[in-house]
This record gives sequence, C-alpha cells and structure tokens, in this order.
Amino acid sequence: MIIQLEKDIPSEQKKSIIQQIKDIQYKITEVHTQYADYLIAIGKNDFDIRRFGNLPGIKDIHIVSDTFKLVSRKWKVKPTTIDLGDGITIGEGQLAIMAGPCSIESEAQVNSIVTHLKENGVRIMRGGVFKPRSSPYTFRGMGIEGLEMFYKICQENGIKIITEVMQVSQIEPMYPYVDVFQVGARNTQNFNLLDELGKIDKPVMIKRGISGTIDELLQSAEYVFSGGNEKILLCERGIRTYETASRNTLDLNAVPLLKEKTHLPVIVDPSHGIGLRAYIEPMALAAVMAGADGIIYEAHEKPEEAASDGQQTLNFAESRALVKKLNRTFALKQEMKMEV
Ligand code: PEP
Ligand code: MN
Repeated sequence: MIIQLEKDIPSEQKKSIIQQIKDIQYKITEVHTQYADYLIAIGKNDFDIRRFGNLPGIKDIHIVSDTFKLVSRKWKVKPTTIDLGDGITIGEGQLAIMAGPCSIESEAQVNSIVTHLKENGVRIMRGGVFKPRSSPYTFRGMGIEGLEMFYKICQENGIKIITEVMQVSQIEPMYPYVDVFQVGARNTQNFNLLDELGKIDKPVMIKRGISGTIDELLQSAEYVFSGGNEKILLCERGIRTYETASRNTLDLNAVPLLKEKTHLPVIVDPSHGIGLRAYIEPMALAAVMAGADGIIYEAHEKPEEAASDGQQTLNFAESRALVKKLNRTFALKQEMKMEV
C-alpha cells in the first residue's frame, strides 16, 4: 500500500496513521522525496482500504501488489517528466535524443561533438569519464578532470550532459558537473550506489542489468525513489542471451512492458544493445515505434579512432541521418496514436 501524505501534515495526524497501519500488522517505510512524503506499508492481512481513505492527512492511497511500488503506474497513472532546465525535458509527448562518444577523450573531441550536436538540434550529450571496461588494460576514462572539461564546454553551449557514476565515492566530486547520472548495466544492482543516488536531487538513468529482468530493473529504480529521488529514467540496453551474432540482444519487448508497468520515462540504447554500427539506425527507429521516450546512442567524429566502442559508434553523417529519421519516426508515431 502506498499512502501519499498531505504536505505539512501535523505530526499527531501522521502518528495516528502510522499507528493504524501497525494495528493491521503492516510494516512501514517512510519515504521523503523532493516532491512529496509517502508511507509504504507492506503486509499480508486483508483490510478494507476505506478504513484509511478518509483519515485526515492522507492525500492519496493505493494498493500496489507489485514488488516495486513507487515506480509503479498503478498508483501514478500520469507519466513522469524529467526537467533538466533551460527548456529541456524528458518524457511524454517528446523524444529525447542523447548522443556522444562512449568515452570523453579530449577537449578537441568534445568540441567537435558539441558542434555536431548543436547543428542537429541534439541538446543532451553522453560520454563516460569513468569507464567500466571488461579488461583492465583498456582505456578507463579521463576521470573527474575530464568531466569538468566536458561539463564546462557543454554548459557554454547550452547542452546538458549524462555520464556514468560507478561508485558511491564518485557522486560528491561529480555532482557539480553532471545533469544526469547514469548507472551502468554492471551496477544496476549495486544497491549501495542506488541508495546514495536516492539522496540527491539530480536525475538518474538506470540501465538494465546485463542479465537483469524487467522487474529487477524496476526494483532498482524503487531503491532510488524510496531513497528520496523521484527523478529517474530507465534504459533498455540489451541483455546477454545465447546469441553471439550481436553484442547483446536489444529487448524491445521491454519498452511497451515498462511503459505499462511504470510511470518513468523509458530510454533505449541501441549502441550497446546490438553493438554493430550498421544496425544502430533500424534498432533506434524500432525503439521509437515501440514507444521509447528517448534514444541514447554513441557518436564520434572518427569512430575508428574512438578510445572505446568504436565498432558501434556512428560517424557524424550517420548520426545526422539518424536524428532526422528519429524525429520523423516520432512524429509518425504521435500521429498514429491520435488516429486510434
Ligand atoms: C556506456 O553507456 O558507455 C556503457 C558502458 O553502457 P552499459 O553500462 O550499458 O554497458
Ligand atoms: Mn560504450
């Protein structure tokens, strides 16, 4: 059960609600986010919801039987939109496009990509400075100095940034230079990291675990929400299957399923999803038709020289064509929605 409390509820009223929940042997977790206060009550006994519905101090009450609660659409039908400031929002009614290199490499590289993004109306740049690499001998990112440089150039050009945070100790030094924190597929179930990201007020995009289920992704999001941060995006980035012809298996089933299960925006990453440059475009367009709220993909002036993931990175001509087609596909998708 989710109870949303009235803002500034008198403490006596809150105590009384808590007592009545305890009386039906339900365990309570109090959640305070940047937007509201909630009580999450978990228990087995049947009860009549009308017993609570009219209690003073309760704004809204819902029974949610899923293992994830606050991120469920069962209590919040209205989709969540994420406001990045300067007129940049992610969520219903628009397609967010995020593009950039796998890794931030140099000032010249960031400048060239920023120019490309501006020319094509893309307002969010991706790029890792802490890179989770399968081999310790490969490039592992420019670190915090690279991030400062990346952020500064983007800020001067009206571009927001999304970048991966790999561990709790990085959150504080990264915080001033990040618009959206990305939790990578290898960290989807790093619950300590998720707990800490629940304590900040900046958006967090959680990628689906390499062998994670959809419900596990939603439970990871529940960690961040119940920790106090409602600004969450989910990202389908492919899962590991028995298939070896592609890097991962991009699970586009996840898009409509997630849209049904949660009010959070759903982003698709075709770059890591299929891992082959030639097929990023069709998979990105398919993701839009499947209902994605945004696409994140890798782009670089010279993919063959990229420090990481060059094989799945679009060059600028390919990226330009993709942005055009994404926008056209999204417009078509919106039209089709209206026809129904
Ligand atoms: C990335 O976005 O560069 C990345 C490492 O992604 P993932 O965590 O999905 O592998
Ligand atoms: Mn990558």
